[in-house]
This record gives sequence, structure tokens and C-alpha cells, in this order.
Amino acid sequence: MSAGDKLFGRLLNRHPSPPAQSLKPLSVLSVGLQMHLNAEGQVLHLTGPLRHLLAQQKPTAQAPLLLDFLLPHCSLVIEGSPADWQGHQLDLDFYSLSGQPLHLRGWVQPLADAWLLQLLDIGDLLLERRQSRLREQCQLLAAQIGEHLRVCSLTRLPEILTEQLQSLAQRFQIPCIALALLDEQEQGWKIHQQYASFDAPQLWQTGQRLGTGLDSLNGSAPQHLSLMEHARLQGTFGNTEGFVVPYHDAQGVAAWLLCGGWSVQRRAPDVGMIDWLQFAAALAAPVLERLREHRHHLQLERLESLQALLGTGWWEVFSDSAEVQLAPSLAGTLNLGISRLPVQAWLDQVHPADLEELRSRLQSLQDEGTPLLLCVRLHPLDNASTPAWYRLQGQALGVGKNRRLVGFMLDISDIKNQEQNAAAAHARLDNLIARSPAVIYVQRYVEGALQSTFFSDSLGPLLGWTLAECTDAALVERLHPEDRDRYFERTRQLLREGSVSSRYRLRDSRGDYHWLLDEAKLLRDDLGLPVEAVGLWLDVTEATLATERVKQSEERYRILVEDSPAMICRYRPDLTLTFGNKPLATYLECTPEQLPGVNLGSWMSPEQRKAFTQRLSQLSLEFPVSTAEINLQLPGREHAWWVWSDRGVFDQQGQLLEIQAVGRDNTEVRRSQQQLTQSAKMATLGEMATGLAHEINQPLNVMRMAIVNVLKRLSNGDAQIDYLTDKLNRIDAQLQRAARVVDHMRVFGRRSEIEDHPFNPIQAIEGTLSLLAEGMRGKGVDLRISETDFEVLVRGHVDQLEQVLINLMVNARDALLGKREGNPEFKPWIAVHAEQHEQSVRLWVEDNGGGIDHRLLERIFEPFFTTKPVGVGTGLGLSVSYGIVENMGGTLSVENATEGARFCIELPVVPPDQITR
Ligand code: ADP
Repeated sequence: MSAGDKLFGRLLNRHPSPPAQSLKPLSVLSVGLQMHLNAEGQVLHLTGPLRHLLAQQKPTAQAPLLLDFLLPHCSLVIEGSPADWQGHQLDLDFYSLSGQPLHLRGWVQPLADAWLLQLLDIGDLLLERRQSRLREQCQLLAAQIGEHLRVCSLTRLPEILTEQLQSLAQRFQIPCIALALLDEQEQGWKIHQQYASFDAPQLWQTGQRLGTGLDSLNGSAPQHLSLMEHARLQGTFGNTEGFVVPYHDAQGVAAWLLCGGWSVQRRAPDVGMIDWLQFAAALAAPVLERLREHRHHLQLERLESLQALLGTGWWEVFSDSAEVQLAPSLAGTLNLGISRLPVQAWLDQVHPADLEELRSRLQSLQDEGTPLLLCVRLHPLDNASTPAWYRLQGQALGVGKNRRLVGFMLDISDIKNQEQNAAAAHARLDNLIARSPAVIYVQRYVEGALQSTFFSDSLGPLLGWTLAECTDAALVERLHPEDRDRYFERTRQLLREGSVSSRYRLRDSRGDYHWLLDEAKLLRDDLGLPVEAVGLWLDVTEATLATERVKQSEERYRILVEDSPAMICRYRPDLTLTFGNKPLATYLECTPEQLPGVNLGSWMSPEQRKAFTQRLSQLSLEFPVSTAEINLQLPGREHAWWVWSDRGVFDQQGQLLEIQAVGRDNTEVRRSQQQLTQSAKMATLGEMATGLAHEINQPLNVMRMAIVNVLKRLSNGDAQIDYLTDKLNRIDAQLQRAARVVDHMRVFGRRSEIEDHPFNPIQAIEGTLSLLAEGMRGKGVDLRISETDFEVLVRGHVDQLEQVLINLMVNARDALLGKREGNPEFKPWIAVHAEQHEQSVRLWVEDNGGGIDHRLLERIFEPFFTTKPVGVGTGLGLSVSYGIVENMGGTLSVENATEGARFCIELPVVPPDQITR
């Protein structure tokens, strides 16, 4: 039974007139319509108020048929005659004067011989029924719309929303329909989604901004927009009429359903305002909810990733269950596995050092609601590395039973580590400054003056003052009187140039002065105005005093060097002097100031210079010193011999930087040595005089004999040309021989040349033999001279080597003759031979004179050592020979061979590439 039927039932109950029980003939109701019908269904009589409304379709003269009053579709209901209708409920639609059909319901009942058709108006009931049906449909539609929007996926939401708008538009023939939402960023309304039927003008675009015009409308009811009343919205509705429905939630109007170019009165008069509100809600509520949900989701996502990135996360403690819930990401970072766990398990993560404090803070958070803020260490996950630092913050929300303890944990290991590093560095710095002989100070700039505001703790140990004692006046008072000007200038320069470095003396609390190196810098603000000066005092007392001492000692050494009788100089490897003392300058006939820049080599011969630089090149870090006797050609003096000692100064790589040299003039010594050699020569000459007389006598005798014989022949008159020629040739040969001897004798009178020359040592052997051979043979000494098959050069003076050889041979001869005196059978001999070695040549002189007593072997080279009688031996021969050979870079040695002494002269050979003549 429909709602209309029920209503009708009630109505009948209120006016009980059941057809069967009350069949009284004139119990006519004063309501509705009563029709008196005959058996054929003709209307005899009409009563009741409704009869005035009836309109007869085809007015007839005789009694009209019931059918004539009814709309055609009712003919089925009244088929047959009234008797057939009895007991049925008749719903009949009558023509009415107003044009609208009149809906009546009734029944027939016999009335005497006729029938009474009793009818009541059910128009209202039907209207109500239709309306409620419409509402049901609307509700259904709204529910469907809502449902669709709620269940679809978020990505399809716009599409589904359009579909729903379309279904609404089609249902009510709305040309343009749209849902407008509040745009929070723009503070205005915006078309969220719209639909326009294909033949309608496109009033709106999705995303179109509408401004705040809609706010002027009444937000609690749907309303028709007439252009006259709502001028502000004309633009929005394209100058046509419109209809708008608000949707509001707890915050107020949140959405508008806009229907453009459409009038609700005309198109959907039956749809109630409540229905429209329902439609708007069905569309807007899920959309808003889902958008909110989406925003929430994004926010959560952002929060999650932020937490993960920061190593942070929220926590909430549930006091009743003693459990804590952690953000999943945080639980993951802490390696807890689950995100809800007993508080104890959470606290187990905390380092014992921080555990008690955290526990007590949590307690006071719970009891008194004291906000929690604590930095705690957590056990490192791998037990090896350092613990992680977390900042734990929490607060109590709500009161009583609803109190919640929530907070977050933030990984601050980085900051903590930096903090710890910085603190450690700070401590180290403090310590360093406190221990160092340095004071850091700050002076504030006040109107052109600097006022001390800070001194580092090292001030006490260094100067024994406190900051309070360091007022500016006190500072000036403590300055060394001689340094006050310097201090004031330091301040002026600091202010003028922004930085300064200065030195002055300050008195400490004991009264001792300290030399301070003051390095200061002026700091300025953004505008370039001075703010303060930051500076450093470095105690340089010791260094300053040391420098002073060095200066003094340098002065002493300088005097020593200047006044030294020795020549002292410094020069570079290219022989340029950088310094020379007075004696050197005197030798070089200039002043010491003129010496730097002069090249030492300019006083040397090319050979000397070459030898000199070669010697320098052998200096090394291991053997930095070398001594030699050098020969110089000094201005105004022919030759000077200096004993010269060089010491190389090297850098760390072993590169020779400069040479420091000390020299002494050895010329006099040299000269006397030469004189000694000369006297030795003379002595030898004297010794040889007898031999020489013999040498010269021999050819003279031969010549005299030849001349006597020639004269005899000439006087006999039988002098033949051949004979004369032969004799003259012999005389010539003897003359040549004598001349050679005499020529060679001159060697002894001559002084050796200054410079060495390369020469063949065999030349010296030959020269010696030319002097001594004849004499030796005359004395019956057998000379055994070996042939030499090589040619080498040694460096020195040929006459000096000859002298050595003569000495050796004369000594040998003396020994031999001495030995023969006691033994006339004795056959004396002297052997001379030369031997070439890789880098040297050896000359041997050996005799069979019985050798030298082994006890004397070491002494025979001493000057004036002789075994010969006074007036015979000088004891100089071997010592001078030794010196000569040594000067040539060689050695003279002796040993006893089988029959006599064997002397050996070993001389270095000049390499072919060094031969210069
Ligand atoms: P002098 O010949 O004037 O004595 P020397 O210096 O030449 O001075 O010799 C020193 C000494 O060496 C000689 O007195 C001699 O005793 C010894 N002597 C030198 N040569 C020989 C030699 N060949 N055999 C033995 N004794 C020698």
C-alpha cells in the first residue's frame, strides 16, 4: 500500500462510513461529491461541495452518464452497471472547470432503487504521493552520485565527477552545470569541474577562477539568480539566469553547485530545495573529502620522507599500557622491527649514561606535564662505532584521562660530533694559548681610542697581570720608557691602516721587561666602521736577546776576521768574491770594500784556474774541506804561493753554495825551498866536480893526442887528407861530447821554471846518463840501462827529475865504491829501468852496494841525514829528491833488494786529454 493509500485509509477512519454497515438512505456526507445513479449508471442528482467544480464533457438534455464526467482512461474502471461496481474502490478522474483533472475516490452503495456513488477528493494525496516519489528518486540519485564519487579511484575522480554532473544535467535538462570549490590559496571560488550539454554555450572552464562574487549570496539555501538582483554574478552566469545551491560543512560554505541558463521554477518545480541541497552535498561532500584525504596523504608522505631524511620521527607514550608507539621510519632507523613496543624496550636503546635522566624527565612529563627536551645517546647498532646522538623532545597534550605524551626524536649526531669537535678544538686552542708565550687580546674602539676588553688566560703566566690591572693608563705606564713612542705610533697605524706589527717592551708584575711582538688587526662592521682590534702578543724576549747576542758575537768574529793576519774570504763557486778581509785586500792592492765582485781566477794562470776549479768540484758534503798550495800572479809581484784552505758550504740537496777560504802566504817558504833545492844542486855539482873533470879531461886527452899526432904527421910531411879528416872528425866528436856535458851542467845553475810542464821522464834518464855515464864507467861501475818501448808524459820540471836521478845514482856509486874499497874483486853495477803502469810510470834505480841498514831505512829521507864523513855528505840529497817527487804528485820510496838498495820514483802520468803545452 502506498503512502497515499494509507492517508486515504486514515481519512476514511476519521469519517467512518463503511459502505456495508451504514446504508441509511440520506446519510449523505457534507464533504466530497455524491452522485445518485440509476441502474444504468445515469447521473440523477449531484450533491456535495465538489459538484460545483465538475465539468460535463458532453452536456446532454437527459440525464448524463457517469462516463460523461470522466476522463477517457476511467472507462475501464466503470465497465458495466453500478451493481457491478459494488464492493470496489473506485478511483475516478473527473473533468473540472479549472482544466486540471479532479481526482476522486469512492464506492457505490444502493440507495433505495438507485445507487449512491460517494466520492472524496484525493488530489492532495496523489500530489503528495508523486512528490514523495520524486523525492525518493532524488534521494536515490543523490545517493548514487555520492556512492560513485566515494568509491572511484582518485585518478578517475574528475572523470566520474563530470559524469555525475552530466547525469544531473540530463535529469533536469540543465544546460550548464558546475561544482565550484573554495580555493584556499586564491581566497576565492574556482570551478572545480563542469559539464555543459552539447547544444549549450560553454559557460565555464575547469579551473576557472570566479573571485569572491558567490560570497554575497545566502549560503544556507538554494536560490534562483535573477540578473536584476545579482549584478555581481552577471559575468559568472554569462548574463543568463541561473540557480545556485550551497554546500556547507563545519567551516561554512565549502562548495556551490552552479546551474547556468536554467530556471528551477520552470524546469523542476517539483524538486524541493532540500533535494537540491542534497544534490549539492552528494557532489561536494565526497569530492571535498577525497581532496582533503589526498592532501592529507601527500602531507603524510612528505612528513614520512622528511622524517626519514632527517633521521627523525614522532613518538607517543601510552601510559596505561606502558607502551610507546614510534613513527615507522624511526622504528626502522632504530632497528626496532616493530613500531609499538614496551617503553622499557625503547629505553633499552638509550646509553646508560643518559638513561636515568631520560627516565626522570619522562616521569615529570607524565606527572606534571613539564615539557621534555633532552639530548641522549643511543647504543650504536654495530656496537663498534660511536653512539648516535638524538634530541628527544616531548609534551603532554590534553588533561586527565585524555592526556597524551607525544614528541619526536631527531638524529643530531652530526651536530653533536661537530659540537664535540669544536669544543675539543676550542679546548686545545685554549690550552695552547695558555701554554704558549702568547696573549690574545681584544680592544674595543671607542671614539678613536682603543680600550682593552679581553685578554686570554695566558696573560697571568706571561706578565703576571689581570685584566683589571690592564687599564690603558696602566699599560702605558708599564711600557719601557724608550718604547712609548713606538706604542703610540702602533695604535695610530692600526687605526689608519687596519693592521700593524710592532715590537716593544712591557714590564711584568716582577718588574722585568719582556720584549713583545704585537700583531694586531682592526675589525670593522658592515658599514666599514671600526668595531674592535684583535691582536696577539708574542713574548720574543729570548729571541730578541738571542739576536742581540748573535749580533755581538758576529761583531767579535768580524773583528777577528778583519784583524787576522791570515787571508780570509768567501766566494761563490764561480770564484767571485763576496767578502775578503784586509790582508787579502792588501795582497790584491785594494780595499776590503772593493773585493766583493772580484774574481779570484783573474789572478791565476789558465792552468792554475783549471786545477783550482777542478779541486773545488771535488768538494762534497762528506768532504767539504780541501787544502792546496796555489800559485797566483799578483799585481806588482811576479808570483805568490799561497797555502789555501777551502771549506764548501752546501744546501740540503748537496749543491755547493759558496766557499769559505783561509789562506797564508807561502811564497817565502817556497822561495827558501827553491833555494834549498838550488843549494842541494850545487852540492851535487860539487860532488860531481871530480867526475866532471874526468868527463871533460877524457875528450881533451883524446883531442890533444889527435892534435899531437896530426902535428907529427904534418912535420913529417906525410899528412894525408883521409888521415887528417879522420882525426878532425874524432876531435869534433870529442868536442861535441864535451859541449854536451858542459851544456848539461848549466842545468844546475838554472832555477826551475815556475810552471809545470808535461815531459817524457825517459828524457830525464837520458840527461842524467849523459852527465854520469862516462864517469861511472871510468870508475869501473857497470851501468845496466834497460831499453824503454813506451812514451808517456809526466808533469813537472825535467831538470828537477834529472836532479833526483843524479842524486840516486851518485848515492849508489858512493855505496858501490865504498864496498869495493874492502873488496877489489867486487863487480859494482847500477841498473836503471822504467816501467809503465795504468796511470803512472815507475823509474827504478838499483845497485849491488849491499843496501841500507834496515834501522836507517826510515830516516834516510830526513834532511841532513847522512852516513858519510863530514864535508863529504850533506844529507840533503834524498830529502830534496823526496820533496821534488812529491811536488810532482808522485812518491819516492826505497827497499833493500837482494844485493843492494832499490829506489823507486813513481809519477802520475798526464792523461792524453789533459796535455797542454
Ligand atoms: P849524502 O849522500 O849527502 O849522505 P843523501 O841524503 O843523499 O845524503 O843520503 C843519505 C844517506 O843515505 C847516505 O849518507 C847513505 O848512508 C844512504 N844511502 C843513500 N843511497 C844509498 C845506496 N844506494 N846504498 C846505500 N846507502 C845509501
